[in-house]
Amino acid sequence: MYAFPAENAASDPARNYEIAPKEIVGLMREFRERKLEFLGIYHSHPKGKNEPSPRDIQLAYYSEAAYVIVTPRPHAEKPVRAFAIRDGRANELEIQIV
Ligand SMILES: [Zn+2]
Repeated sequence: MYAFPAENAASDPARNYEIAPKEIVGLMREFRERKLEFLGIYHSHPKGKNEPSPRDIQLAYYSEAAYVIVTPRPHAEKPVRAFAIRDGRANELEIQIV
């Protein structure tokens, strides 16, 4: 499994995240060329809980993706959480480390 960093192109990157469409198109092309399966998108919530914000839900365009949200807060119960976001609703996914 690989993780590809993307630039946060949001106008207020301290509060929101957004990947520029041009960068997404380039990443999707690279996945196809390297025969990689697109699993999901990760970002962090440096200060708040790591659950999807209303904006995260609004901007979740990939219904098949896992939206992974990380928190660096100490003592977080789950520092890494993943969600399926479809039709305006977020459902937490189970993460298994194998
Ligand atoms: Zn978020």
